[in-house]
Amino acid sequence: MQGEIVKIAGPAVIARGMRGARMYDIVRVGNERLVGEIIRLSGDTAFIQVYEDTSGLLVGEPVESTGLPLAVELGPGLLSNIFDGIQRPLPAVRSQQGDFIRRGAVAPALDRQRRWAFRPTVPVGQEVGPGDVIGEVQEFGFAHRILVPPDARPSRVAEIREGEFTVTDVVARLEDGRELRLMHTWPVRLARPEARRLDPREPLVTGQRIIDVLFPVAMGGTAAIPGPFGSGKTVMQQTLAKWADADVIIYVGCGERGNEMTHVLDEFPELEDPRTGRPLMERTIIIANTSNMPVAAREASVYTGITMAEYWRDQGYKVALMADSTSRWAEAMREISSRLEEMPAEEGYPPYLSSRLAAFYERAGRVVCLGRPERRGAITVIGAVSPPGGDLSEPVTQATLRIVGTFWSLDAALANRRHFPSIHWLRSYSLYTPLFREWYRQNLPEDFEALRERASALLQKEAELQEIVQLVGPDALQDDQRLVIEAGKMLREDFLQQSAFSEVDAYCPPIKSYGILKAILSFYDEASAALRRGVPMDDILNLPQIQEIARMKEVPADRFPAYTEEFLRRMGEAFREPAGAR
Ligand code: ADP
Ligand code: ADP
Ligand code: MG
Repeated sequence: MQGEIVKIAGPAVIARGMRGARMYDIVRVGNERLVGEIIRLSGDTAFIQVYEDTSGLLVGEPVESTGLPLAVELGPGLLSNIFDGIQRPLPAVRSQQGDFIRRGAVAPALDRQRRWAFRPTVPVGQEVGPGDVIGEVQEFGFAHRILVPPDARPSRVAEIREGEFTVTDVVARLEDGRELRLMHTWPVRLARPEARRLDPREPLVTGQRIIDVLFPVAMGGTAAIPGPFGSGKTVMQQTLAKWADADVIIYVGCGERGNEMTHVLDEFPELEDPRTGRPLMERTIIIANTSNMPVAAREASVYTGITMAEYWRDQGYKVALMADSTSRWAEAMREISSRLEEMPAEEGYPPYLSSRLAAFYERAGRVVCLGRPERRGAITVIGAVSPPGGDLSEPVTQATLRIVGTFWSLDAALANRRHFPSIHWLRSYSLYTPLFREWYRQNLPEDFEALRERASALLQKEAELQEIVQLVGPDALQDDQRLVIEAGKMLREDFLQQSAFSEVDAYCPPIKSYGILKAILSFYDEASAALRRGVPMDDILNLPQIQEIARMKEVPADRFPAYTEEFLRRMGEAFREPAGAR
């Protein structure tokens, strides 16, 4: 059907005569056929968000519905690509016309020329159903599994071909007439189905001590990183992209400043996968929105990203999706909502802000994938939040806090002191730890959880004592309190601090994290006992073990846990020696 524009307000357009159109239909707007999406319908009036710059558009120009929802292409060739919010490839158009895609252009996401060697894994006559793997192609290091689309009906394979195909060639035909290709499409606002959801039972190991030990996120869980400018959000996300236990990385960049996304686009392709030495981009997909792209595309980009994440999950892979920053996405919702003159809620955000955020984060999870053979996949979602002025009480941060399982609060003061990662240990939390008990028991020494509780308590105690010191000076403290301060300092400097740029320390496996923690707390215990025996504080503070603990993070990981045992033995001796034993 064809309607006409009655009003244009920035990225929002109102059209009438749209009877028969449906919510979330994609429409072509105006003579330039700009791409838009219906986000509200009232009688035959459609409220449309336009994914492209609307300047020059005039009232009276035509609007045509495609009758189809916003969908993405899923198939070989996604990896290492950079797309805009509605999955148009960026570099391709970049070379021709700067950073921008020609308005109204419908550039296909996947390369239509490239051929992929397809190897079927099911024979003719086999019954297949939604989500079943019918074969695979090789894409960088991955077996890219070709799936029966989740919306297909069960049927038998009538024909299946081995050979080199483009994404649009038919590789198999089912008895019900359905043709299967290397790619299929899926509407972004509809979560892809799974066979079964699994409870979070294991952590996403990141190699970052403060995360793995104090504030872990579940494999298939959700985490938020709020933090002001310069606090380390970008380094944190790059570190996680490099080291976290995920096969595929999806980075959704909703940039505020124009140059911000440019930085990501320049830097990410340079990153090396530390485990393989190959470019990290070979397992990464980037969705880029710069500030000069229309806000509606930003709104769509998180859905585009999570749908691609689900596609890789459905193949049986572990995916980490990073959204930087969800505040920019929320602001896009706010702007469109206000242009459509919707009734605003808190601070002008639409009343559906928190339900939209929740619906997005709910697409994270660990699942048994739909279809055969059995596969398990996971999507872990890590969203950066940029609260204006660092004010965590603002609506986006608050709504996010109610949803996510882990909260890494980045702190400007810590970053200023060059304490990195600048995750604040008193203001961050993880709701997942009780769920990992069995995993810890199987993967780490049995006192791991007890050590973590003690470390948290010591840090808390140290903070309280530091306040006293601030008020009345260090002389007010007893020796046992001075020892708490000393142990707190060791925890902060020798355990929590971890340089993303250190060759050895950038990645710290859990067993090494455990070892360092054990060393610090054992030192604290031995020193407390020595104090009680009357050993002078200064003798304790002169022990070489303090320096040795400080250097422990630079000890190669493969020397643990033996290194810890050896250290504990020598420390025990040091405390029993005449000076220490007095
Ligand atoms: P936000 O706090 O909104 O996330 P960031 O501080 O992360 O913004 O900025 C993103 C990246 O852009 C930074 O890592 C930095 O490399 C770059 N950047 C930000 N501001 C500037 C600036 N004023 N000049 C140069 N580069 C900048
Ligand atoms: P944000 O994105 O929050 O604005 P960045 O991630 O760009 O902040 O970090 C700002 C600077 O802080 C980096 O350029 C780097 O020098 C330092 N930094 C942040 N995190 C770390 C880290 N884990 N290890 C070492 N340096 C870090
Ligand atoms: Mg940043």
